[in-house]
Parts: sequence; structure tokens; C-alpha cells
Amino acid sequence: MKLYNTLTRQITELKPQNPPEVKLYTCGPTVYDYMHIGNWFTFIRYDTLVRTLIAVGFKPTWVMNITDVGHLTSDADTGEDKLAAKAVREGKTAWEIADFYTKYFEQGLRRLNFIIPAVMPKATENIPEQINFIKSLETKGYTYQINDGIYYDTSKFSRYRDFANLELDEIQPGARIEHNPQKRNPSDFALWKFSPTDAKRDMEWDSPWGKGFPGWHIECSAMCLKYLGPTLDIHSGGIDHIPVHHTNEIAQSEALTEQSLAKFWVHTNHILINNIKISKSLGNTITLEDLADKGFAPETLRLLVLESHYRSQSRFSWDSLASAQTRLLRYKNFAVRRFQLTGSDRLAPPDLLSYLANDLNTPEALAELEAWFDLAESKTLQLESIENAISLIDQLLGLNLAGVKDISDATKALIAKRERARTQKNWVLADSMRKELQGAGILVLDTPSGPIWQYLD
Ligand SMILES: [Zn+2]
Repeated sequence: MKLYNTLTRQITELKPQNPPEVKLYTCGPTVYDYMHIGNWFTFIRYDTLVRTLIAVGFKPTWVMNITDVGHLTSDADTGEDKLAAKAVREGKTAWEIADFYTKYFEQGLRRLNFIIPAVMPKATENIPEQINFIKSLETKGYTYQINDGIYYDTSKFSRYRDFANLELDEIQPGARIEHNPQKRNPSDFALWKFSPTDAKRDMEWDSPWGKGFPGWHIECSAMCLKYLGPTLDIHSGGIDHIPVHHTNEIAQSEALTEQSLAKFWVHTNHILINNIKISKSLGNTITLEDLADKGFAPETLRLLVLESHYRSQSRFSWDSLASAQTRLLRYKNFAVRRFQLTGSDRLAPPDLLSYLANDLNTPEALAELEAWFDLAESKTLQLESIENAISLIDQLLGLNLAGVKDISDATKALIAKRERARTQKNWVLADSMRKELQGAGILVLDTPSGPIWQYLD
């Protein structure tokens, strides 16, 4: 029995319920800390999916939630609320933590040239929707109450056993971790957790069952239903969400609506640093600020992400990032040709879309792009061909080549002066000017039709 339909290989063959709209939901960040590159890897892949959907003619409605309450340190409802724990460590309220890291995340989306989702709903702003969802599940007999909350009885959802038997081996190991002994089944999960009786939480709400806060999984089910309806065209999230989070979303949503939660699922694989999974507990998290400190632009990370396929494990190392930076420099130096000598050669833009539309094959799209640059560099392209290519690359890959700047008038004047010295065979002067330009990060290449310049980094 197939539990998760993976995205159709040819995205053009996706048959959305209400074409051309594609209802797309992404499990968003838990806003309790700085996003690390593992998080960004995942989100960049969904941004690429959205760009591809648009390019093939669909109109995605992209919803990405912000988890600002209820995500416990274990995905299986044990441990502390991640936000509350961070608030205690930093001497702030959970609300301040959520606000700070939500803004940080949104700023990161802009820095990385994301297409911004149509809605980014917060769990804390959808509490009544979650309570109503739980009430409906209660009416249908899927819930029970124990000392610390309202739980979903997974034995009532017959397909849950299929998940556990066929794909979700991890549910059973999960049962070994500390859990409330009053739970009827190890895989049962919290829909509503009660506030402790001896302490006041920063984030808590009244509910028909008592003061408390929603479990993590229920927010996605409630927000999918509210913003996109009972069935999504595509649901996306990290592969690590399969065993618990997405299974529980399906159990909640399909019990309520009796319809399929999602037609297709896109699960992105892990990223490894030195063959180890990224984890805060291992201390191997790297942020965009760490990249900037070492001189890497955000687009370099984006390009590195695109070098691997979303279904495969990707690897990060500083060396691989440096290679991506070299590759990006080639792209940028193509982009600056629009400020220089242009000719009459025409060249159709690279056919990136046929690779992207085939299961988001980004590595092959980049190979196509490299071959296209080989061809483009042998020609004196007309301005329009250059601009068309830049616009297509930016549209599909989000590399912001259109933002690559021209050099200053003073630098241009220096290049012209050097050229005059060269034509006057004043090699010493021409050479000293070439060195001066190099010091300013500009490389001048002498071609039969005159000098052209490129950035050195
Ligand atoms: Zn989710």
C-alpha cells in the first residue's frame, strides 16, 4: 500500500484540483533559534519547486506555517516546549523569542531571494481553528483525555497501523522514549497539552478541556484546512517528518475530512556536514552569518543546494561552498557582459525548465547551464540575448544575476586609459594600470574587439 504519493516525475503532468492553481503547503520553521544551513537547504528546495510550478504555467498558492508554540524537544510529545525552554535560557518571554526568530527567518527569506509564500500563518494566531479541529475529532471519537492533555487515539485510525508496519519502524523505537504511561498506545500523540498546575506559561489559552496549548501536529492540519481546504495538491516537508509529524497530520486530517490530505508529497532528504547530520545538539550548525563572515554571499548557498537533487542526501563542506562560489563568479561575469561590448550573435536562453520540470532535477539543469555558458562565451552576444538569459536564470534559480552591479565610471575611465597606453605601446604604464584594476577586484581581458572586464570575486 502506497502511503505517500511522491511528486509526479513530470511536473507538467500534475493535475491540480482547480487548475491552474496549485495548493502547496510547506511545514515551516520552529522559531526558537537561528536557522541553520540545513533548514535553508530544505526551504530553498521548496522555493525551487514554486519557481518551477510558475514557469510551467501553474499558479501556486503557497502556505508555509510558522511554529511558534507547541513543538516539544522531542517530536513525540515529550520534553519541553522549544520556545519556552529558550525563553528561560535567554531570560525573555516565549512571545519575545517567537517574534525575534520569526523576523530573523523572514529576513533570511529575503536575503536568499525567496519567492515569499502567500500566507505564513502562525500557530499562535490560529488557536480557535486548532481547538475546533480537536473538538470535531472528539465528536468523531478519535480522542481521549489523560492527566496531561487530550490525545489522538491512533488505534481508531485503521491506516495508522499500515504506516507503523510498512514505513514507520521509527514509531516503535519512539515508544521507548519517556512517555505518559496513561497513553493507550505508544504512537498516540497530544492534540492539546494542559498547562502545568503549579506554573503559568507565557503562551497558554483557555479551551473546553482546560488551559493549555496545542500539540505540534495539529497546527498543520488546522492551517492546511483553513487556508487551502481539505486536500492539498502538494504537501512538502523534510524527510524526517515522515515517521511522526506527517503521519500524524494525515491521521488527524483524514479522520476529520474523510478525504486525502495531499495528492502528492515532496520530502527533501537530509544534508550532512562531514557525513554527519546537522543537529543543534551536535553543535555543527552553520548560519547565514557564519557564511557571510567567511565572505560567502547567500546566492552561493543557493547554488550549492541546487548542485544536488532533493531526494538524495546532500553534503556540505566549506570546500564545496568554495566551488559553488567559483561557479557563481562565472555566472556573474556572464551577467556583467550586458554593461559592455555587445554584438549581433543571438542565442536562445538555456533550456533549464525541461530539467527542473522533470522531478526538479537541479543538478542536470546546472550542467545544461554550464554547457550553455561554454557556448555563450565563444560568441559576441547581442544585448537582448544576454538579458533574456539573465532573466530566465533568475526566474528559475533565484540567483539574482540581475542585481550584479556595473563598475564605477572612474574604473571604466581607468580601463580606457590603460587601453590608450596599450595602443601607444606604453607597456609599463598599461601593466601598472592592470595591476591597479586587479587590486580593485577587476580583471581586464584583451579581445580582438577591445578590452572586457570581469569581477575577480
Ligand atoms: Zn507540518
